[in-house]
Amino acid sequence: MRLRSRPPGPRRPRGPRPLAALALVTAVVTVAGCAGGASGGPGDPGGAGGSGAGDPYFPKAGNGGYDVSHYALDLAYDPAAHHLTGTATITARATEDLTALNLDLEGLDVERVTVDGRTARRRHTGQELTVRPARGLDRGRTFRVVVRYSGAPATVTDPDGSEEGWLRTADGAVALGQPTGSMAWFPGNHHPSDKATYTVTATVPKGLRAVSNGEPAGERTRGDRTAFTWRTTEPMASYLAVLAVGRYETGRTTTRGGLPVHTAVDPRQAAASRAVLARLPEAVEWAQDRFGPYPFSSAGAIVERPGDAGYALETQNRPVFAGAPSTPLLVHELAHQWYGNSVTPKTWRDMWLNEGFATYAEWLWREDHGDGTAQETFDALYAGTYFPDAAANEAVWSFPPARPPGAAHISGVPVYQRGAMVLHMIRRTVGDGAFRALLRGWAAEYRHGNADTADFTAYVERSAPDEDFEALWSDWLYGEGKPARPPEP
Ligand SMILES: [Zn+2]
Repeated sequence: MRLRSRPPGPRRPRGPRPLAALALVTAVVTVAGCAGGASGGPGDPGGAGGSGAGDPYFPKAGNGGYDVSHYALDLAYDPAAHHLTGTATITARATEDLTALNLDLEGLDVERVTVDGRTARRRHTGQELTVRPARGLDRGRTFRVVVRYSGAPATVTDPDGSEEGWLRTADGAVALGQPTGSMAWFPGNHHPSDKATYTVTATVPKGLRAVSNGEPAGERTRGDRTAFTWRTTEPMASYLAVLAVGRYETGRTTTRGGLPVHTAVDPRQAAASRAVLARLPEAVEWAQDRFGPYPFSSAGAIVERPGDAGYALETQNRPVFAGAPSTPLLVHELAHQWYGNSVTPKTWRDMWLNEGFATYAEWLWREDHGDGTAQETFDALYAGTYFPDAAANEAVWSFPPARPPGAAHISGVPVYQRGAMVLHMIRRTVGDGAFRALLRGWAAEYRHGNADTADFTAYVERSAPDEDFEALWSDWLYGEGKPARPPEP
């Protein structure tokens, strides 16, 4: 996620955190453990599913008791009035007997909810929309919830102060969802552990366009409004859903392998974006060579103006950029299609599995294009000379990448840079050939799934059974402070 510009990584670098923060984390984990599921065992009449998916840092994100397979979102947005109306049709399967279930929806007015065609009772408190179907839902049953809603969609401020959710722009809006902003524009099970397919239809004033994930599936103008439909047929975590509304210059090309590439660029960014976006097919081919088959059925990019979002985000198929991206930034967000979007973290604690890999992809791109080796980048980070700013260099050591001290730190410098350093240490341990196979193998093993750090370390150990990774994990991945200098390669 969330790269401002070059140099990559740091948003608000922080110094080493006090020990007290650790105690807080432990407390949050305990609370989250209770929030996951609320129903009893066999013979129980059924429960309420739970108001969280058990995330250690975002206990209210997602919900328990069901698994969504498809979202059909029918939306209409008028930028001048800043008004959104929506009908969300959610197809899901009960994973336990349910008398009620929760959806996450922040700040919009719910007008009606049905479950399998029958009106359901509802209560909307904060981000939790509790739905009580007329009849209980047996475990294993597939059901359909329809939520009709409207209002002024909100911008969500993250624990680290950055903004997501519904961001208004000069000519429309862009909706971004990492980690929790998608609840600002549609009700859902908003946690990375529950992926689904999507159909998004957005109706906007004629002259504007609506761009989303997947592939375009129709465009129809009636009177003074145009409806754009986009279809995502591969599983997607809801934080990767995007809706961009505004004036765009659109482009369509294909890679040499025939993969469609759809771009939408704010006209004021078109000139500055032309050269870098022309390299997108080449970058996809390079990434396929490095990481294995592209995991989705199209690629692309959405370029907004620099002030429209404070960062770039790897929204599925086509990342959003705030202004024309640099080539390394384009490569970073492209690499997320494998690492993050296809192999998705089980919880927000595992963010380094996204950002460490995407950052290392930049190092590899530069190495493959004669712009410094990964070893040189590693050495500069270790020596504290990588960033122009001393505080940023020091922040690399402020916490272990696999254990951010809290929700405000999941996009901290160590998650990116020290995460990439972990990958480089693995490369040095196993050698270039085995490391190449490992990057591809990891993406293949968990393709379209979810994984956590323990899955990753186990995978690495299986891939190189003769090597000892214990010190690497304990010092670089989980250890506090700056690890001892590794021996020269
Ligand atoms: Zn990223």
